[in-house]
Amino acid sequence: MYHKINKTLDYWVIVQLIYDVIIVGGGVIGCAIARTLSKYDINIALLEKEADIASGTTKANSGVVHAGYAADRKYTKRNLCIHGNQLYTKAQEELNFPLRRIGSFVVALEDYQIEELETYRKNGIQDGIPGLEVIFDKEKILKMEPNLTPEVVAVLHAPSAGIVSPYEMTFALAENAATNGVKFFRNQEVIKIKHQDYVFHVKTRTEEFQGSHLINAAGLYSSRISKMLGLDYFDIIPRKGEYILFDRNSIRLNKILFPSPTKVSKGILVCPTIHGNTFAGPNAQNIVDIDDLSTTTAGLKEVLEGGMKLVPNLPLKSTIRNFAGLRAVPESMDFIIDNTDVYGFINVAGILSPGLSSCFSIAEKVQEFLELLGLTMKKKEDYNPYRPKPERFVNFSNDEIDLKIKEDPSWGRIVCRCETVPEKEILNAIRAPVGARTVDGVKFRCRPGMGRCQGGFCRPRIIELLSKELNLPYEEITKRGDDTNIVVCRTKDRILTELKRKGAL
Ligand SMILES: Cc1cc2nc3c(=O)[nH]c(=O)nc-3n(C[C@H](O)[C@H](O)[C@H](O)COP(=O)(O)OP(=O)(O)OC[C@H]3O[C@@H](n4cnc5c(N)ncnc54)[C@H](O)[C@@H]3O)c2cc1C
Repeated sequence: MYHKINKTLDYWVIVQLIYDVIIVGGGVIGCAIARTLSKYDINIALLEKEADIASGTTKANSGVVHAGYAADRKYTKRNLCIHGNQLYTKAQEELNFPLRRIGSFVVALEDYQIEELETYRKNGIQDGIPGLEVIFDKEKILKMEPNLTPEVVAVLHAPSAGIVSPYEMTFALAENAATNGVKFFRNQEVIKIKHQDYVFHVKTRTEEFQGSHLINAAGLYSSRISKMLGLDYFDIIPRKGEYILFDRNSIRLNKILFPSPTKVSKGILVCPTIHGNTFAGPNAQNIVDIDDLSTTTAGLKEVLEGGMKLVPNLPLKSTIRNFAGLRAVPESMDFIIDNTDVYGFINVAGILSPGLSSCFSIAEKVQEFLELLGLTMKKKEDYNPYRPKPERFVNFSNDEIDLKIKEDPSWGRIVCRCETVPEKEILNAIRAPVGARTVDGVKFRCRPGMGRCQGGFCRPRIIELLSKELNLPYEEITKRGDDTNIVVCRTKDRILTELKRKGAL
C-alpha cells in the first residue's frame, strides 16, 4: 500500500508504508487482536478477503460465551476460554455489543451421565469458574427452564455462560479499532507472502502491503497462509455444523441447553439468540470442501431429533431459516497460537470452539508474543476504549420515537417491517467506521432481512440506500461481494435499448 507524503512544497514523494503489524483475516479473532493492539502507538493493517469482515466462521456459530469447563485440561483452549469469559464483562461495557449472561445447563438424561457433570463441576471450580453446581431437584430445574424435557435427571448449571451476537461483537471490535487508527482493507485476499530483510511483503490480488510483523488469523484458510511462508506443520479440516432457526417469540428459553457431550463436539444444543429467536444445532460432520455451507435433509433431521431430546415442544411450524457454519479443526484439536520460526510471524490458527469465547484472551496472548519479539508497545495518549451503543428503534419509548422523528424524519421511515428497522439505522450502519458495503453487511449490522420474510420486502429499499450512500449504480450493489449482484439492469433501460436496436426509437 503506497502513501503520498508531501516532502516539500514543490513535489510529492510516494513512499511505501511499512506497517508494524499486518493481520490477515477479519473474523472475531483478527478483529479482537486489532482492537487490543490499537491501544498502542503502532501502525496496524487488517486484510480481509471478503467484501466484509465477520464473513467466515464468525458469522455462523452458536454465539455462546462458554464458561470453560468442557475442554480437557491438557488443552490451551481451556484456560483461554475460562479467562476469555471473564474478559467479556469489561469488553461489553466498553464496546456496547449485545451480551446476556443467562447461564447454561448441561443436561443428563441418564444416571450414568451424572458422573461427567460432577467431573466438570469439580475441575471447573478448581480452575476458577464461578458458580458451577449440579442440580438434581427436578422441580427446581424445570422452574428454571420450563421448556426442558421432564426426562431430565440432573443438570450442571454454569451461571457465567452467556449469549452474544458474534458478528455484532466483531463489528464493534472493528469500529473501535478503526477509531483508534487501525486500517481495514476489505476485498483483499492474500495470495503470496515473501519475507525479506525482516519485512513481510504481503501480496493481494490488487495491492502489496509491507509489514514488520504478520499475524495469521485466516480461520479455515490459516494453513494456506502458513504454507505461503514455508511453514507446513498443521492442516485444517472443515467440520460442518448445521442449524435450524425458529421465529422470535415462538418459544422462549431461559437457559442455553447442552446435552451431555460426545467425543467430537458439545452435541446439539437448543439455545436462545440475543434477539429472541431460538435455534437447534449444530451437528458435526467433517467435510472436504472448505466453502461448503450447504444444509442437507439428513443433517437437519439429526439437528431436529437432537434438539427435541432436550426441548420436546420445539415449534416446528415456526422455523424461519436453516444454515451451516464450518469449524476450523486442527489435528491437535487445540488452538495453534505460535511465535513461529519465521521471525515476526505469528500463527493464530485452528481456532475452533470455544474460539469466540476466548477471543479476548487470545488477543492478549498475541500482544505478549509481539512484546517478546521486541515491538515497542507504547500506550497511545488519545486511546479511546469506548464505542457508542448503536441506537435501535425497537428499544425506544414512544416519547423517544416522537423526539427522534422530529430530529430526523428518516427515523420514521420503516424499511424492514419484520424487525422494525428504520432508514436511519441502515444509514448509520453504512456510515459507521468499517461500515456496511453490501446488503448482507447491512443485514448483519442492524437486522433488516433477519425476520420472517427474510428480506423479501426490504431488500430493494436497502439496495437503493446503499446505492445512494456509496454513490454506486444499483447493478454494482451486491449481496455479499464478488458475483453476488442482485440487480442485472433497470427494466426501463433494457426496454429502451431493445427499442433502439429494433429502430423503433
Ligand atoms: C458450528 C459452530 C459453532 C460454534 N459455536 C461456538 C460457540 O458457541 N462459542 C464459541 O466460543 N465458539 C464457537 N465456535 C467457534 C468460533 O465460531 C470460532 O472459534 C471463531 O469464529 C473463529 O474466528 P476466526 O476469526 O478465527 O475465523 P473466521 O471468522 O473464519 O475469520 C477468518 C477470516 O479470514 C479471512 N481470510 C481467509 N483467508 C484469507 C486470505 N487469504 N486473505 C485475507 N483474508 C482471509 C476469511 O475470509 C475470514 O473472514 C463455533 C464454530 C462453529 C463452526
